[in-house]
Amino acid sequence: MLQGVPLSVVPVAAFKDNYVWTLRNETHAAVVDPGEARPVLDYLAREKLELAAILATHHHPDHVGGIAELLQKFRVPVYGPKNEPIATLTRPVSEGDTVSVAQLGVAFSVLDIPGHTRAHIAYYGAGALFCGDTLFACGCGRLFEGTAEQMYASLKKLAALPDDTKVYCGHEYTLANIGFAKAVEPGNAALQAREARDRQLRQSGRPTLPSTLREEKATNPFLRCLEPAVVESANKYLGARIADPVRVFAAIRDWKNRF
Ligand SMILES: [Zn+2]
Repeated sequence: MLQGVPLSVVPVAAFKDNYVWTLRNETHAAVVDPGEARPVLDYLAREKLELAAILATHHHPDHVGGIAELLQKFRVPVYGPKNEPIATLTRPVSEGDTVSVAQLGVAFSVLDIPGHTRAHIAYYGAGALFCGDTLFACGCGRLFEGTAEQMYASLKKLAALPDDTKVYCGHEYTLANIGFAKAVEPGNAALQAREARDRQLRQSGRPTLPSTLREEKATNPFLRCLEPAVVESANKYLGARIADPVRVFAAIRDWKNRF
């Protein structure tokens, strides 16, 4: 992307709590995870934008269900994980590949981040991370097709990106996630501050996203599996003494499922 020109990213709401992240300039747009076509088509028509590309992070219908309908109106490349069953995919990608959207002057590196699904990917570029259902604001995705080891490694890979990276995840789950994070780390002051701010954002009808990796590292329990307070809570939940971060991660992921 052009140096100094910020990427404009707009949330188009879909279903109950999905965001179709829409990258745009004055004339063109690219969309990430269009689970539904209608709200995207409405937005593009209203803003007089031409679609240039579709990017998918994983195969779940609430992330790819709108692609076929978008393709009826716009003949554009569809990028997505090489090793997942997505019928509408035309450009299968995996880690090491680059996705360029020439009309927007932007390029993204593809990262493999399995765990939520078998071959889930993320797109990273222009200071932004599109991470689907892997890293959520103050939470992480469920382990549907991968192991705790895989998910923990994927989250670690994302956490190693620069602190000011903007995190654009697939769902507005933040307040519920903060509720759980407070149970894990009741003494975390950064978490209290985040809750106050994000509650206000939701009350005024605004998204809590994007967050930043800096903020996730300070408040997201799934990125804090080495913190003594998180380890202690995991031990209490399990009724056992463990310290290995993958086991701590697995314990709090299991706890969250029942929370
Ligand atoms: Zn999903």
